[in-house]
Amino acid sequence: MKNLSRRRCSNRVWGSAALSIALSLALAPAALAAQPVLVIHGGAGVERAGLSEQDEKDARAALEQALRAGHAQLAAGKPALDAVTAAITVLEDAPQFNAGRGAVFTHDGKNELDSAVMDGASLRAGAIAGVHRVKNPILLARTVMEKSRHVMMTGDGAEAFAKENGVTLVEPSYFRTEKRWQQLQKALKEEAFGQAHEDIETAKHFGTVGAVALDAQGRLAAGTSTGGMTNKRYGRVGDAPIIGAGTYANARCAVSGTGWGEYYIRAVAAHEICARVQYAGQSISQASEGVINGDIPKAGGDGGAIALDSDGSFALPFNTEGMYRGWIGGDGVPHVALFKDEKLAEPGAKAR
Ligand code: ASP
Repeated sequence: MKNLSRRRCSNRVWGSAALSIALSLALAPAALAAQPVLVIHGGAGVERAGLSEQDEKDARAALEQALRAGHAQLAAGKPALDAVTAAITVLEDAPQFNAGRGAVFTHDGKNELDSAVMDGASLRAGAIAGVHRVKNPILLARTVMEKSRHVMMTGDGAEAFAKENGVTLVEPSYFRTEKRWQQLQKALKEEAFGQAHEDIETAKHFGTVGAVALDAQGRLAAGTSTGGMTNKRYGRVGDAPIIGAGTYANARCAVSGTGWGEYYIRAVAAHEICARVQYAGQSISQASEGVINGDIPKAGGDGGAIALDSDGSFALPFNTEGMYRGWIGGDGVPHVALFKDEKLAEPGAKAR
């Protein structure tokens, strides 16, 4: 740029035109050069002990499938929002995760689903909570965002809206898996013996799913979907569908959380991570580590998150035994890991 303006300084008009072109190139939105990236989680809390070889294989395969589905959207030039919903739809359909089919059971033996999506570029968001018949809650959250004047809908109202807008409804039995049913039976027994909720082994198996993506235009999006926590009662809603708590995206940062929702809500965890990036100048990894491995456990909670910066940097902090997680960049090669001692290729790496 220096050489360019020096050579042309004899002709002031031409020189200033060149300078302004060079400047506008230098100041062009990162958008033009963004290298798409998608980061996903399938929930914190996974433990080797509770996972058969087959379960592990299936979970890895589903994570890879979700990454490929999201990547296909990004590679086709589609918005980050499409990558997020495509990846989450795959994970909701996979019975290994606590979202859509395979969701955990409430105290009353129901599957009660929460989900949210947020578009970082426009700050539009959609969320649903407490639905029992929506096959893919993330698609209903997106429909709330795109086809209503509201941000959040719950229960029967959300299902009526789904019906009116052609979002697929299923029988509640569609979500049931034997494994989750047994987890509820165990939780009920432990509760009957007077153990505190936090000591119930099954309550640790979170398994929510989430995705954050950056598209070729530099736009970010985030989404999360969950069945909540085993044995939840009284219409309990966790952090996942609460914008700013479990799900958040703006022009600079996108986050999806997983963990003990009550603590994420109190910490406004997802927004807090983005605020530290935006206002305190912290890196995405500093900010997410500080909230997930600092504030949350300090308050008594646990879990993890995925966080993505508009420059393509990302982080996947967690403080449980494991977290189903993965990412995929421009080359379309999925990277997946489950356990704490398992290295994920280039965690926190710059994707461009
Ligand atoms: N955060 C979710 C909730 O509290 C649980 C999870 O992440 O699995 O509902």
